[in-house]
Amino acid sequence: MSDLRDLYQELILDHGKSPRNLRNMEEPTNQANGYNPVCGDKVELYLLLEDGVVRDACFEGSGCAISTASASMLTQAILGQSIEAIRQLRMEVGKMLTAEPGGSEDFRALGKFAAFSGVSEFPNRVKCATLAWHTLDAALGDDLNMISTE
Ligand code: ZN
Repeated sequence: MSDLRDLYQELILDHGKSPRNLRNMEEPTNQANGYNPVCGDKVELYLLLEDGVVRDACFEGSGCAISTASASMLTQAILGQSIEAIRQLRMEVGKMLTAEPGGSEDFRALGKFAAFSGVSEFPNRVKCATLAWHTLDAALGDDLNMISTE
């Protein structure tokens, strides 16, 4: 298990240091801003939806390694996916992030997102990890207002 944890930590550090899809989008069909006042993380998420499928996804923002890695991995994961598939993934990840620390649930089916499973032990960091997902909710709901994890 500790090897797995090291691997997960490396994944978060890697995406935190070299975020994927960190760029602007000229004409997104959906976008939203997210802000986590606890840590000061900011995420601006851009989506290009076509026939209910994400054709392009990217983000801008500044924040800690966890919030940046979460947004980076999120944009990678939703690319080419249908909105239904994304809502399903979002639900599973949400469940994992709010699970009882040390619980027996196995989140390895979530693939690399299981990297964030250790975050549920640190309530303040949970908001860093969920920020991108809350912002995704807002983007899919066409809610252009600034949202907050509070
Ligand atoms: Zn943070």
